[in-house]
Amino acid sequence: MTQQPPQASSSTTGFFQALPVLPPQYTSPTSLPETFHELHSNPTQASDDKVIARILDLYLPQDATEATKRVHHLARLSLNPSILKYATDAETNHPVLRPLSTFGAENKNDPLWTTTGWQKLKEIGYREGVVSVAYEKSYRRFNRRVGQFVGGHVWGPTGTMTACPQSMTDGAATLLDKHKNDEDGDQPGRGEVLREAYRRVCSRDPDVAWTSGQWMTERSGGSDVSGTETLARLMTPEELEEDAKRGRNRDAVGMRLGSWKIHGFKWFSSATDSEMAVLLARTDKGGLSAFYIPMRRRVGAQMLESHTLNEEAPPLTELNGVRIQRLKNKLGTKSLPTAELELNGARGWLIGKEGQGVKEISAVLNITRLYTAAGSVGSWARGLVISRAYSKVRKVRGGLLQDNPAHLAWMAEETVKYWASAHFTYLGVALQGALEQDWDEMVANTKAVHLIPSDKTTVAALLRLLLPAMKAQVSVASVDGLRQCMECLGGVGYCENNEDGGLMNIAKIYRDNLVNPIWEGTVSVMAEDIVRVLTDKRMGGGDIMKNIFTPWVRDVLGRCAPMFQDQVSIVEERLQALNDVVRNAQK
Ligand SMILES: Cc1cc2nc3c(=O)[nH]c(=O)nc-3n(C[C@H](O)[C@H](O)[C@H](O)COP(=O)(O)OP(=O)(O)OC[C@H]3O[C@@H](n4cnc5c(N)ncnc54)[C@H](O)[C@@H]3O)c2cc1C
Repeated sequence: MTQQPPQASSSTTGFFQALPVLPPQYTSPTSLPETFHELHSNPTQASDDKVIARILDLYLPQDATEATKRVHHLARLSLNPSILKYATDAETNHPVLRPLSTFGAENKNDPLWTTTGWQKLKEIGYREGVVSVAYEKSYRRFNRRVGQFVGGHVWGPTGTMTACPQSMTDGAATLLDKHKNDEDGDQPGRGEVLREAYRRVCSRDPDVAWTSGQWMTERSGGSDVSGTETLARLMTPEELEEDAKRGRNRDAVGMRLGSWKIHGFKWFSSATDSEMAVLLARTDKGGLSAFYIPMRRRVGAQMLESHTLNEEAPPLTELNGVRIQRLKNKLGTKSLPTAELELNGARGWLIGKEGQGVKEISAVLNITRLYTAAGSVGSWARGLVISRAYSKVRKVRGGLLQDNPAHLAWMAEETVKYWASAHFTYLGVALQGALEQDWDEMVANTKAVHLIPSDKTTVAALLRLLLPAMKAQVSVASVDGLRQCMECLGGVGYCENNEDGGLMNIAKIYRDNLVNPIWEGTVSVMAEDIVRVLTDKRMGGGDIMKNIFTPWVRDVLGRCAPMFQDQVSIVEERLQALNDVVRNAQK
């Protein structure tokens, strides 16, 4: 038999790598057609992202099918080609600023342009209830936060940074929920406005729903806001009357504008296309206070002639004393419009007590830090999904990567690290849910009954201690984890793969994820926060390690000991070492 001479490859002939097929991360057997039930009776076996199935199994009762079906659905939506095209659009066509009007005046109307892809992804987020599920209080029999965050886990990388404004919106919802029924006091009409804002940030209807920004960082510092130079002052009755006379006292949806005027400069605002914001400003009393502002206001009497001829046109609006100076040119998070903002007479409402702004904003920060950790594990998870799928199609030395012992050992090690971070994060998420709901109704009926304390004070103290550690540790670990995922794909992993729905673009996920160790507090700031908790005399009877953390760990270990003796002794040793470090540092 004569041997065929080798054929030279060309751009159209020769070897072409088959495209890996990404499986949905989570599969709920009850969501599958009945014929599959026997084949896939166990969600952990049926799901590609095993740890996430185990987390749901741990923290949710067996009958929480509303929650598991939702995750099942989102896992599929995230891989839907018609949705992925929005993600690629948002990633490749970045937001644009048009600061001037046609004739060169300040563009107060529509200076910020975002792509259709970005807007559609936000709409999908509203419809799927990425924020609102946490506030749908009729669901009482399962941990709403766990259901919500696991949904975000599978949706996040496809949502392409929309999780950032969503996290701030969720934080704002918590704050508004806390204050929406406060007495109006010297701010008549405030309650009605806050209740309307709350209704909108919790809405699933894209025509109603709002996103919120969170404006804290100034040029003087994000870690330390004590140098805040933004000033708020109460308007005089004459000023209020004048605005009312000119029809300039309403926001875009007709709600009353607040009686505080705010001037200053905010250095980083990530949700610049949002409808409202929560911000910090200094008042005459000297301390920092928290304010609510709507992003737009009605222009009142300055109506254009053409507008008066069209009685069906909505009222004309403009930015509420906010000027977008420029958009940040960032390493990643390119789809996200992060801007510098000048506030020049923005009208807002004081939230909570004057001078208590840092305390108020910490309610928002607790939520956004949880999102940062969860977003980090979600990004890392997607990187591993891609790596696993690639190992099933890519051959080296004649065999598939998935059968190569060295590659397998490497991926196994990375997967274990990811699992550890996922469990750490979801402990925090479950604690947050336990703070917001009734333990008897939604923990007692789960496998986490011995893990989540029934006493809310203990839950709050544990979360206060663990959250900064989690935010720092998990976000840094995920940066390294995603770098390893890129390497798993070789040179392709380093490329901006926006073809094929952008599904293979780990580089984008890596760039986006790199911000997580920085925003919502850097690692050093988280470390400082932990020290603050450890030395807080009001927590855990003045010694949170001795009175809360150590007894809780020992109780959990005691229950694991019969089955996992060796592992329990390792954790015991680590616990002892941690206690020694804390004790010695306090000397
Ligand atoms: C993409 C992006 C989007 C953002 N979006 C928003 C937003 O929407 N709203 C908003 O308010 N902010 C936003 N930020 C700002 C972000 O929260 C801040 O950048 C962050 O808090 C750090 O503040 P800074 O930049 O002023 O750095 P600095 O606070 O000046 O920190 C510089 C260095 O000093 C260290 N440091 C600071 N304090 C201590 C300490 N006590 N002990 C030891 N070391 C310390 C830090 O770790 C860091 O290494 C965003 C940032 C980015 C990158």
